[in-house]
This record gives sequence, C-alpha cells and structure tokens, in this order.
Amino acid sequence: MKADIKSLDLRELTAFVEILGEKPFRAKQIYQWLHVKQVSSFEEMTNISKAFVEKLKEEAELVTLSMEEVQESKIDGTRKYLFGLEDGNVIESVLMRYKHGNSVCISSQVGCRMGCRFCASTLDGLVRNLRPSEMLDQIYQIGKDIGERISNVVVMGTGEPMDNFENLLKFIELLTDENGLNISQRNLTVSTCGIVPRMKELAEKKLQITLALSLHASTQEKRLQLMPVANKYEIHEVIDACRYYFEKTGRRVTFEYSLVGGVNDTDTDVKNLCALIEGLNCHVNLIPVNPIKERTFVSPDSSVTLAFKNKLEKNGINVTIRREMGRDIDGACGQLRKRYMGQQKGRLA
Ligand code: SAH
Repeated sequence: MKADIKSLDLRELTAFVEILGEKPFRAKQIYQWLHVKQVSSFEEMTNISKAFVEKLKEEAELVTLSMEEVQESKIDGTRKYLFGLEDGNVIESVLMRYKHGNSVCISSQVGCRMGCRFCASTLDGLVRNLRPSEMLDQIYQIGKDIGERISNVVVMGTGEPMDNFENLLKFIELLTDENGLNISQRNLTVSTCGIVPRMKELAEKKLQITLALSLHASTQEKRLQLMPVANKYEIHEVIDACRYYFEKTGRRVTFEYSLVGGVNDTDTDVKNLCALIEGLNCHVNLIPVNPIKERTFVSPDSSVTLAFKNKLEKNGINVTIRREMGRDIDGACGQLRKRYMGQQKGRLA
C-alpha cells in the first residue's frame, strides 16, 4: 500500500524520505509543499528532482479532496462544501465568516455511529473514519477556494472525533505545527458527545485546544432520550471528565446545549443544569435545534430560548445563543450530504 504522505508528521516524513534513499532535508521541502503551499500533485514540487518525483509517485499517494458542490448563503456568506473522497464517499465542511476571522467546521468521519436522535449525520450509520490528510484537506481546499487565511477550526461536522482518536491527534499535530499551516491550538475546538476515556486521554496531552461537550440535557434521564451514548457514560461521569480537562489544561470547557421545544427547555432544566455544572469554569452555548425531516423535534420559540439564557445568566453562568449561520442553505449537519446521496441513488435507480 502506498504511504498517505499528507498524514505523516515531519519526523515520519524524514524517515520515509531516507528509506527512499534521499537526504533528510528533502522532507522539510516536501512538507512545505504539502502543508504550506498545499499542492495537489507531486509534479508541482519544483525543487524536487524528476527522478525523486517519480519515486514518490510510486511509493506515496497525495490525498486531495475534490470539490463536488458549494452553496453560499446570501444572508451571511456562509459556504457549505461537499467534498468527494478517493473511494467515492462524500463529506461536508462549512466556512463561517466572522469579524474575527474565517472559521472552518470539518467532518471527522464519513457518517457517524453515535445515533443522537436529532442529528442528520448519524441516520445512515458510520461508513469509515477520515484520515488525518482528509481532515486537513478540507481546510486547505477551503482556504484556497476563498484565497484567505483560515484562522479557526472546529471539529464539529459529521462524525465523532473521539471515535477516530488516533487520526484526530495526528490531525491536531499537523494543523498546529509551526512548519505547516500553523493554526494556534487555542483556535481549534474539538466537539464530542462525551466519550469519557478519550476525553481524559486528551486532557493528559495538555494541549491548549478547546473541548466542547455536547451536553443537550440537564439530567441523565433526559440525556438518554436524546443521546444513546449516555447508556455508556453517565452524565456525571461526563461532567467529571470536563472538570478533569479544565484541571489539566486550564482551558474553559464549552457545553453545547441544543434546545428542543418541550423536551429540555423548562425551568426545571435550568435548575438541574445549574446544579450539574456548578463551580465548573465553563461556557454554555445554546443552539435552537435545527429540525430535520426524519424527526419530529422542534426548536423552541425565540422568547423561550432568550428566557432560558437569561435564567442561566442569573445563576452566574456564561452563556451565548449560537448565531444561526447559513439558514438559507441546507441547514443542519449532514443534510447536504444526505440530499446529495439521495440524488445519486435516484440517478442509479
Ligand atoms: N460528534 C460530535 C461533533 C459533531 S456534532 C459531537 O457530538 O459533539 C456537532 C454539534 O451539533 C453537536 O453538539 C451536536 O449535538 C449538534 N447537532 C447535531 N444535529 C443538530 C441539530 N439538528 N440541531 C442542533 N444541533 C445539532
């Protein structure tokens, strides 16, 4: 099997180059072509000899995503991308433009096996993990497409990053490497549904990335109704893992809370939520649930959302309501991919 050269860190790439009989300094040149200039073929590496380019083509593959579809929001300039992988699978990524810079939301898996009840990405289950190169290239392609620097990355697209842990760690290393795109760890957020052992392992790496937990409920009982993963990790265990993350890294944890009308938006939820996260240095991000046609969940009235926010604030909790971006383009996570796959099926039938 050919080496996935864009997934190698500089040390591994150096070893690879040496095995192929070249001087170690070539590795740094190639690394620059891959991660700074972001070329899509070995031929573009003009300071590498023709003979070595030929050898690289034999021994390595250069993973590059193909842009299948782009949708742009007329409201806020949000762009949704559908990328094709070499094996024919497709994944989604999103570019959000903020005053403080460009933020890209990437997928970490093709599909997902976590089964959260309100999420479109998990409806057809997990197909496969994404490789580090495939995670990186979502950012590289979008940066090239808009011709601007990407300053923030959130791993909040399709997939559960902690279910693809080794590749996630390699991705983080490559993305934040000063020899590569050099995105600051502080500008990277990884969102999880709460895989406790992996959260602890990540904490022990003492990175400066932000951990976001998809909490979505104030009690174990309610969380179970929305997220099957709660069968495996009890809500207090998950919150303890967040505390541990803060203790190890000093980084404030983000709780994502998708408000579902009549399910988790009551005064009792406010009370239970406050008790649950008491004393934790955190930030709560309220997301009115984005309805998907396969489910009956509805988002609460904006007045309910606002009241929920105010009540949390009264209890001294940092809270924001997530600004909805790209409302006019295939909304919730995984919907663009799902629509596209539906069309492909239609075409084949
Ligand atoms: N698997 C990871 C990251 C991907 S999901 C996780 O669970 O955190 C990114 C975020 O979007 C999660 O908080 C997820 O629960 C939320 N989400 C998914 N579908 C949604 C929907 N229809 N409406 C609102 N939030 C949704």
